[in-house]
Amino acid sequence: MSVVAVVGAGTMGRGIAQVCAAAGLRTLLFDARPGAAKEAFDSIAAALATLVSKGRLAEAEAGRSLARLEVVGSIDGLANADLAIECISEDLGLKRELFRRLEATLARDSILATNTSSLSVTAIAAACANPERIAGLHFFNPATHMQLVEVIGGMATSASTQEALCGLARRLGKRPVCVSDTPGFLVNHAGRALIPEALRIISEGIATPEQVDVLLREVAGFRMGPFQLLDLVGADIAYAVMTAIHDQYFGEPMYQPSYLLAARAAGGVLGRKSGRGFYDYAASTLAPGGKGVGVNSGAPCRPPPGAALPEEPVWVAERDAELPRRWVDHLRANDIRVSDDPVPPPGAPCFVAPLGEDCSSAIVRLGLDPRRTLAVDMLVPSPRRITLMRSPLADPEISRQAEALLQAKGLAATTIKDSPGFVVQRLLAMIVNVGTRIAELGIAVPADIDVAVEMGLNYPMGPLALGDSLGAQRVLAVLDGMFALTHDPKYRASLWLRRRAALGCALSTPS
Ligand code: NAD
Repeated sequence: MSVVAVVGAGTMGRGIAQVCAAAGLRTLLFDARPGAAKEAFDSIAAALATLVSKGRLAEAEAGRSLARLEVVGSIDGLANADLAIECISEDLGLKRELFRRLEATLARDSILATNTSSLSVTAIAAACANPERIAGLHFFNPATHMQLVEVIGGMATSASTQEALCGLARRLGKRPVCVSDTPGFLVNHAGRALIPEALRIISEGIATPEQVDVLLREVAGFRMGPFQLLDLVGADIAYAVMTAIHDQYFGEPMYQPSYLLAARAAGGVLGRKSGRGFYDYAASTLAPGGKGVGVNSGAPCRPPPGAALPEEPVWVAERDAELPRRWVDHLRANDIRVSDDPVPPPGAPCFVAPLGEDCSSAIVRLGLDPRRTLAVDMLVPSPRRITLMRSPLADPEISRQAEALLQAKGLAATTIKDSPGFVVQRLLAMIVNVGTRIAELGIAVPADIDVAVEMGLNYPMGPLALGDSLGAQRVLAVLDGMFALTHDPKYRASLWLRRRAALGCALSTPS
C-alpha cells in the first residue's frame, strides 16, 4: 500500500492525513467543499511547523511529510489510491453515495474504509457491488495522538481486507483491534457503562456530580470522573451517542439514556463549550489550571467544624466476613479503636460493609440500630477516600462524628445517601458487566477488549482485567444485589461474568 486517499478534510480527515503522510504514504486529500482540502493542508503544515519549533520533529522530516500530501480537486483524482479513508459527515445517505462513486473510481483491488463512529459498516457497504473490500477504520480524536484504531468488519468484509487495514494501522504506529460491526463498535459500546450509571446515581439523589467524580478518581484511580468527561465531550454529543446505541440495541435497559442529559442538551447546558455544564467554566470562575468550579482541587479535607469525635470505639458488624474484616483492618491501620464486643456497646457508632446491598437492608437483616449505623464501601481495598452511606434514619450527628473521626486520622470521607452498591461498586460493576457482555457477544477477543478500553477511554485498566482485580464473584454479588433490590433488568449480570465467576476462572478465559 503506497497511496492513500483521505476523503473529507474536516477534524478527522486532516489528522488522519497527517498521520498517513508522516508514515511515508503518498496522501491525497479531497473535500466536497471548495477550498476545504487546501485549508486542511495549511493546518497540517502549521501543525508540523509547531512540532519543528518545539524540537519534536526535524525540519527535513516535516518537509518530507508535507511533500507527500496532495490536495485533489475531484474524486477522479483519487483513481490511483490503494486505499480510500472516508471521513465525511455522519450521514448514511451521503456515505453510501460516496462509496458508490469511490467504487467506480478506484481500482478493483483497492480498499475502501469508513471512519464512521455510529453507522453500520454493513449498511454503508450494502450499496456497493464489492462489499468485501469495504471495512470500518475507526480512528479516535485527535487522530495524531490517539493510538487506538478499531478495524471493523462488516457482514461482507473479507478477512484479507481486515488484515490489510490492521497492517496499515501498525504502519501508522497505531494499535489496531478487530471489532465486529455492532452498534458503537467496541469503545463507544464499552463507554455506555460509566456515564449512564453515573447519571442514574445523581438522578436518584444518591450523590452529587462532584462526589461521584471524586470517588471514581480517588477510590478507583480513574483520571477523570464521568461528569468531568461529560463536560468535555458535551451533553449534546453524549446524548446523541447514548440514544443512538440504546436505539440500535432495541432499547436494551443497560444503555438507557437519562432525561437529565436530554434536558441539558435541549437547554444548551453543554459543558466546557457552552461555559456551563455539571461544572461552571465561566472565565470569571475558572480555577487556576482551567478546572471548572466545583471540580475537586485535591485539597486536604478537614473535620467538619464543631463535629465531636465519638467517645466509644467503633463497632463493625459481621467482622468474620471479608469486606467488614477489610474495614476493621483499615481502621486499625489508621489508629482507630474498634470494639471487639459481639454486640454494639451503647453509644458506639456502628458500621456495616455490604456488597450490592443498601445500608437500610443491612440494618434490617442484622437487627442494628438505624440511628447509629453507617455503611462503608470496601470493594476496593484500603481506599484513599472512605464512602460513608447513611440510611434515611441515620442520626446526622453520627455521620458528622464518623467523618470527623476519619478525617482526624487523615482519611478523606464522602457521605452519600442510601443505595445498593454505593457509588464505586455501582460504577465498576457496570463497567465490568458491559465489558463482559461485549465479550459474550463476540464483538472482539478478550485481550483486545481490555486494550481498546484502556487506550480509547483512558481507564486505568480494561473491564475484564478490572473485574479480575476486584474479583469476579464480588462483582457478580454487587450486580445480583442491585438486581434483587431494584428488580431492574439493567442490573442483570452477563452470562460471561456469571459463568466465569462460578468456575473461578479469569474473565479473559475464552468460550
Ligand atoms: P467534520 O464535519 O469536521 O468534517 C467532515 C468533512 O467532510 C467536511 O469538511 C465536509 O465538507 C466534508 N464532506 C461532507 N460531505 C462530503 C462528500 N460527499 N465528499 C467529500 N467531502 C465531504 O467531521 P469529522 O468530525 O471530521 O467527522 C468525520 C467522520 O469521522 C464522521 O463519520 C464521524 O462520525 C467520524 N468520527 C469523528 C470523530 C470526532 O471526534 N470528530 C471521531 C471519530 C470518528
